[in-house]
Amino acid sequence: MENLSTKDIVEKYGFKFTKSLGQNFLIDNSVLQDIVESADVGENDVVIEIGPGVGTLTRELLKKAKKVYAIELDSDLLPILTEELKEFNNFELIHKDALKVDFNEIIGEEKSVKVVANLPYYVTTPIIAKLLTEKYNFKSLTIMIQKEVGERISSAPNCKEYGSISLLVQYYCDVQVVRKVSATAFLPRPKVESIVIRLDKLSEPKVKVKDENLFFKIIRNSFNMRRKTLWNALKSLNLSKENMEVAFMKASIDPKRRGETLSIEEFGKLADCVHELL
Ligand code: SAM
Repeated sequence: MENLSTKDIVEKYGFKFTKSLGQNFLIDNSVLQDIVESADVGENDVVIEIGPGVGTLTRELLKKAKKVYAIELDSDLLPILTEELKEFNNFELIHKDALKVDFNEIIGEEKSVKVVANLPYYVTTPIIAKLLTEKYNFKSLTIMIQKEVGERISSAPNCKEYGSISLLVQYYCDVQVVRKVSATAFLPRPKVESIVIRLDKLSEPKVKVKDENLFFKIIRNSFNMRRKTLWNALKSLNLSKENMEVAFMKASIDPKRRGETLSIEEFGKLADCVHELL
């Protein structure tokens, strides 16, 4: 029997989309194949899919992976997924909010865990931040997200898209843009374009810093006040004027520069010099 398309499944069950859950389902097969191919899933891999929808991407992952765990929040989708994917004994459905999942409970002793997802737009950044900062042992994350967020994640210093999320992701991962995806690839069509990116977790963070919280606080402060110089942006750290001068001097960074010009290594150096003076 031929696999049903996303549209067929939606019609078969009379499924009603919930806009607030970011339900834009993929209907373009070429995009689906590109996601599966770039995720590079094999028989030794465990896949965690966030937001399986009606299971079209899930089905392709199930054909290749050792096991697929799919985390879905919408209870209306559970009977559909259970019925449509019943032929697979390597499928496990988890009815939860992905933001509240302890992924270690799924990962257990597994050595090769890959996240693959067409993420709901409204929670893209919190989900990425959770998956990275909670330091789970994932090998890679292949995700489809809003194009603008993807461009920020993959951006370099001195680009207008460069910001806190670029540094957060690049601290933990190598970033690769797989492809752009037009709004016509989804049902219903979103108002934005999308992008598929692959994030490969680094074995060690990109820079070694003495205090990660301080490192990210300095980054956040620098970009919260984008037009300000680093000197003004970092006043909130409550260092004396003398110590601020020492920190910038030791880090060899001109305090008149703006945050968006600093590389991740420079932010690391500055954070370590500030750390010594606190
Ligand atoms: N994977 C399907 C596809 O590609 O067609 C659906 C992707 S759709 C963009 C996002 C999916 O995430 C929906 O099925 C939605 O119900 C689900 N979802 C939304 N918020 C969620 C959350 N907090 N936790 C888990 N799933 C969520």
